Amino acid sequence: MAILGAINPILTVGWDGDAAWRLQDYVKRGGYKALARIFEDRISPDQLIGEIKKSGLRGRGGAGFPTGLKWSFMPKDFKDGKYIVCNTDEGEPGTFKDRDILRCNPHAVIEGMVIAAYAVGAARGYNYIHGEIWDMYKRFEEALDEARAAGFVGQDILGSGFDFELFAHHGYGAYICGEESALLESIEGKKGQPRFKPPFPASVGLYGKPTTINNTETFAAVPFVLNMGAEAYLEAGKPNNAGTKLFSVSGHVNRPGNYEIPLGTPFATLLEMAGGMRGGRKLKACIPGGSSAPVLPAEVIMDCTLDYDAISKAGSMLGSGAVIVMDETTCMVKALERLSYFYHEESCGQCTPCREGTGWLYGIVHRIEHGAGRPEDLDLLRGITANIMGRTVCALGDAASMPVQGFLKHFRDEFEYHVENGKCLVPPEVQRAGSTFFKATV
Ligand code: SF4
Repeated sequence: MAILGAINPILTVGWDGDAAWRLQDYVKRGGYKALARIFEDRISPDQLIGEIKKSGLRGRGGAGFPTGLKWSFMPKDFKDGKYIVCNTDEGEPGTFKDRDILRCNPHAVIEGMVIAAYAVGAARGYNYIHGEIWDMYKRFEEALDEARAAGFVGQDILGSGFDFELFAHHGYGAYICGEESALLESIEGKKGQPRFKPPFPASVGLYGKPTTINNTETFAAVPFVLNMGAEAYLEAGKPNNAGTKLFSVSGHVNRPGNYEIPLGTPFATLLEMAGGMRGGRKLKACIPGGSSAPVLPAEVIMDCTLDYDAISKAGSMLGSGAVIVMDETTCMVKALERLSYFYHEESCGQCTPCREGTGWLYGIVHRIEHGAGRPEDLDLLRGITANIMGRTVCALGDAASMPVQGFLKHFRDEFEYHVENGKCLVPPEVQRAGSTFFKATV
């Protein structure tokens, strides 16, 4: 199902099913050259961080935080063990890029992590892999064995005197463990619940030590950035939106899958790459950055380029780059009901506005969808989201609220029709004809 573009060779050349992921394949296409060059040219950690800063690489997990800046937060004079952690706890509905990176190019992630470890002075690292992708965990373990045997991981890497040990850690499938502090708790063997912040992981992270956490795609991009050069990488995208990014396209398109394109590419181009709308139907809406990003109607998204700034200006978020496409057969109330259920189920229950509020959101949307909505429900939904947002320990409260606000903002007429008529504006036979959307993607 997944198809990768051919723009960023480090991320994509490995993609031909399961054939070319091994160390020998990765080395053949230039793998581990960036790491070797760092030691040969005696590039200092500060120079390395400077290069990543210059490249404009932003975190690919959702927040888009500048990677070099994040690395620079690690205390230089701390000598009692620092950590590098890769977040492959990919659980956001609509997002399925990181598992393909591990499947097709696990060594790019390993090389990126070793380079990051050298830059921040970490001696140990973990890749936390989502509980539902066991095969990718096994693949990463095999790749790690290869890298260790070849001297790219472990003691005295490539004769440089630099030691770095790396482990895979298998999660158990909880969405909340994708939140970085919950992920650290989980590695420590505790219940995966987010920590209060501050302190942030760069000062108090894994086992209380300074820790840098980046997304899988971010680490996989690091060797490529260094091989290509910071300036060339910057120019591959657009200002403030450097380089290429993987987009997971799902929903009502002919060829769902992962596509790697430069940031700033028009949405219409990505839609075309994904084979256009399934059955030639009309685009109704799109969630451009994973299920927590506010939905955008067709007329807005068709005018957008896919980058952090343009999507934010349009009222949504680029997030993890999970593009969920919905055609005219989609009932927006049903779609929101499914999304709200997800967040209600995945709330860790630690704080009241999220634990109770996500249940209320789901319950109200559920009754609207099932013909028992009340005229005051739409304002009630708005009020609840306003009381959740910004009042929780982690961002899950916001993630549950933003879809509700987006759906109400752009498709309020459908919700009102449901409340007034006890049924959907989109006739059931039309929905049946086209909509397998949520079965396919959530
Ligand atoms: Fe847990 Fe929700 Fe609070 Fe996050 S916002 S800590 S998921 S209860």
